[in-house]
Amino acid sequence: MDLTAKDAFFIGGTWVPVTGREALAVVDPATEQQVSSVPAGTAEDVDAAVAAARVAFAGWAATPVADRAALLTAAADALEARTDEVALLISTEMGTPLTFSKAVQVGNPVRVLRSYAQILADYSFEEQIANSLVVKEPIGVVGAITPWNYPLHQVVAKVAAALAAGCTVVLKPSEVAPLSAFALAEVFEQVGLPAGVFNLVTGLGPVVGEAIAAHPDVDMVSFTGSTAAGKRVQAVGAGTVKRVALELGGKSAFIVLDDADLGKAVKIGLANCFINGGQTCTAWTRMLVPAGKYDEALELIKDAAAKYPVGAPTDEGTRIGPLANAAQFDKVRGFIEQAVADGATVVVGGADRPEGFDTGYYVKPTVLGDVAPGSQVEQEEVFGPVLAVIPYADEDEAVAIANGTPYGLAGGVFGGDQEHAVAVAKRMRTGMVDVNGGRFNPLAPFGGYKQSGNGRELGEYGLEEFLEVKSLQL
Ligand code: NAD
Repeated sequence: MDLTAKDAFFIGGTWVPVTGREALAVVDPATEQQVSSVPAGTAEDVDAAVAAARVAFAGWAATPVADRAALLTAAADALEARTDEVALLISTEMGTPLTFSKAVQVGNPVRVLRSYAQILADYSFEEQIANSLVVKEPIGVVGAITPWNYPLHQVVAKVAAALAAGCTVVLKPSEVAPLSAFALAEVFEQVGLPAGVFNLVTGLGPVVGEAIAAHPDVDMVSFTGSTAAGKRVQAVGAGTVKRVALELGGKSAFIVLDDADLGKAVKIGLANCFINGGQTCTAWTRMLVPAGKYDEALELIKDAAAKYPVGAPTDEGTRIGPLANAAQFDKVRGFIEQAVADGATVVVGGADRPEGFDTGYYVKPTVLGDVAPGSQVEQEEVFGPVLAVIPYADEDEAVAIANGTPYGLAGGVFGGDQEHAVAVAKRMRTGMVDVNGGRFNPLAPFGGYKQSGNGRELGEYGLEEFLEVKSLQL
């Protein structure tokens, strides 16, 4: 694992030394100690990266699709070969358990890189409509801005699709967890991606992120992060009428229907909420249960929650590591305290540190009962292992509660009758719903309704985000 302080950006196919920039600390949330640092880039660094991406664009756009696919496959192989090391890097910078880091934080990017090579084998960039030939062309230079919770997956979801489409990229990863992006740049360098096709600049959102969003030579920004920052990126991007694809926050609901196997439903719902320490945009943070089964559900949840030991990311048995940083630690505990002040009861966990964890950004996995619809913890994204359990009187009320936030990212439905569960899922105003434990599908469109965003990543839909459409009348 390479924790040396970074002192160069990857621009135009080489590592360009940067001097005189402030160093942004990378902190291990398990120890609260600085372990590395990256340079705080400037608008001038963005100019250099965008210029390199612009120069590379024509050649990459004209590169045969099969060659682009071969490079994506080579990158998947090279990244997969570094799974253990990159997984440890990610666990060190943001605290996720190492086993999960290998399987998902690195496993998903490898799968997504491969999926785009496969999609390119079948995808048609042309379509005939009456006397018109419709051609789909890469949109140009893409600015990618990403968060820390799945630091490599969020990067690859954008970069693999953009490169597959024939676009060139300037990436600004999260300043909280930027190290795996350097490993990805090394992978692209190793497999011989042409110079300037992928460029990496680190720094703060309001500086480097806004310089990318405002840049007249960036054709599109693909942003994943909080709704507040997404709104700002869209406003800044409007100055040049560039396409802005937004993947934002969520407050997703899991509706347990009256005919559900309650024990199974509760286990699946809790797992979805606590995954990655609750720092998942799609987490089902509100579990809606029939009022008549509320007490039984709470008992089952208590038992299920006992199977989520808190621990160091590198300990085998850990299912909940520390939160990613000090700001998250304060925010999540503040949410729990406010929820209690608003009348919620603590069924499991609470705002105190877990016993035996005086150092590190550890919080107790927490389940709250008596959460009133409309209260802060019911409406706002917590981004920690905090589940709100809410009783409902009938299905109409369940759907109304599920749809009653400004967000619309994900959700789940669990019931005894699949067809009925699907019908309920269709009433949810959200971009993704898992029915009866349906598994994550890396080829399905991923994105949100309402203030959860306007984009779709992954699979063919993700590819099309990076395409312009031209019609030739023949
Ligand atoms: P964040 O909004 O603080 O930061 C995300 C990125 O945006 C970072 O790179 C940051 O530097 C940059 N940024 C911040 N302010 C900016 C500005 N003014 N202009 C340009 N860039 C700016 O989010 P975070 O705390 O890193 O991540 C957590 C958030 O991301 C949660 O809200 C979560 O739901 C969301 N998220 C959404 C998805 C999705 O696909 N919908 C996936 C993962 C995370």
